Amino acid sequence: MGQEGSGSLESLRERNRRRVLSALRVAGITSRAELARRTGLSRTTVSSLIGDLVREGLVAERVDHSSVPGAQGGRPPVLVSLDRRAGAAVGVDFGKTHVTVAIADLGHTVLAEMRRELPGDHRADADLEIASQLVDTALEEAGVDRSLVLGVGMGLPGPIHADTGTVGSTSILPGWVGVTAARAMSDRLGLPVRVDNDANLGALAEHVWGAGAGVDDMIYLKLATGIGAGLVLNGRLYLGVGGTAGEIGHTIIDEHGPVCRCANRGCLETLASGAATVELLRPTLGDDLTLNQLVELTLEGHPACCRVVADAGRHIGRAVANLVNLLNPSRVVVGGELAACGAVLLDPLRQECKRHAISSAGDDVEIAHGPLGDRAQVLGALALVLQDAETFATPVDHLAEAQA
Ligand SMILES: [Zn+2]
Repeated sequence: MGQEGSGSLESLRERNRRRVLSALRVAGITSRAELARRTGLSRTTVSSLIGDLVREGLVAERVDHSSVPGAQGGRPPVLVSLDRRAGAAVGVDFGKTHVTVAIADLGHTVLAEMRRELPGDHRADADLEIASQLVDTALEEAGVDRSLVLGVGMGLPGPIHADTGTVGSTSILPGWVGVTAARAMSDRLGLPVRVDNDANLGALAEHVWGAGAGVDDMIYLKLATGIGAGLVLNGRLYLGVGGTAGEIGHTIIDEHGPVCRCANRGCLETLASGAATVELLRPTLGDDLTLNQLVELTLEGHPACCRVVADAGRHIGRAVANLVNLLNPSRVVVGGELAACGAVLLDPLRQECKRHAISSAGDDVEIAHGPLGDRAQVLGALALVLQDAETFATPVDHLAEAQA
């Protein structure tokens, strides 16, 4: 009985240790008190487990100098994170013209970030080869041994079929259609790979590092050539049954409006996307007007650009009001190229959301500009690995299993 008792005590301790490790993975850098809150374990248990992990060199402590001392003064709190030797994550983001690669440790510190141009013809094989070489270069710069990499998160600017994992029809990466992207990259790198779309990755990145940090219910809007949303609910990315949740761009704004690429009429995208706003201005500003130029002209105060961008903000605000009524988020984070227009876009967006949302939900939500800008997608690819301790288990977890 004594042996059985100590055996189950041992396995309880191992289970608790795994819970603490998994909570640390998701939190990055945090306090013992916060770990106790997240795991539901007592502070004494957490402190004892963290003590073991620090002695084993798997958890590092650091003093939080950023924290304001309490009224009684006293020492600043000590925070903990997984040590560099516990593992690393790789993020790869494919865009229209570039691929970006980033490396982070499990304490959520970004160790390297670099970008390479892609050839215009977008052959999947050639693009994957460039990305794979860039991963090697970035690992070298970060000083991270390949054996420490737990997995790779990858972002693609097109639809991924949830059942087959293949890239769907896309005008951005035509050479990728039908490619099983995660498997192709995994074969090349010899590492597990998870793929997601740019709006979901933006949501994860802003949730971990940006304007949605510490917020459990948030919506990320990607306002670029198209319009998409990523939903973080109860602290987790919400994908829906087929992985297509967040298609806010196809919210009906005007049922008699222009025909959309989805075959409906008057979708938000046909009225307020980067492509639609550029199209509205081409008759006056020229056929070669780009979204980048439109943003620059708006920031310079060009009247027609400001008018069109403000109208887009109003349309988006109405769609956001519907989403706010439905989900009651505490924050909406606005990212993507069009978000760089700042107040010209955001002020009418906020006003229209306030006007159409029910007052309690409208009062709860703060609409903020996403500070991560065009880094959001590659950082989100990193977060895909960092936040998923089940798929991308740390060597420390294996160690725990072996000991259990
Ligand atoms: Zn549509």
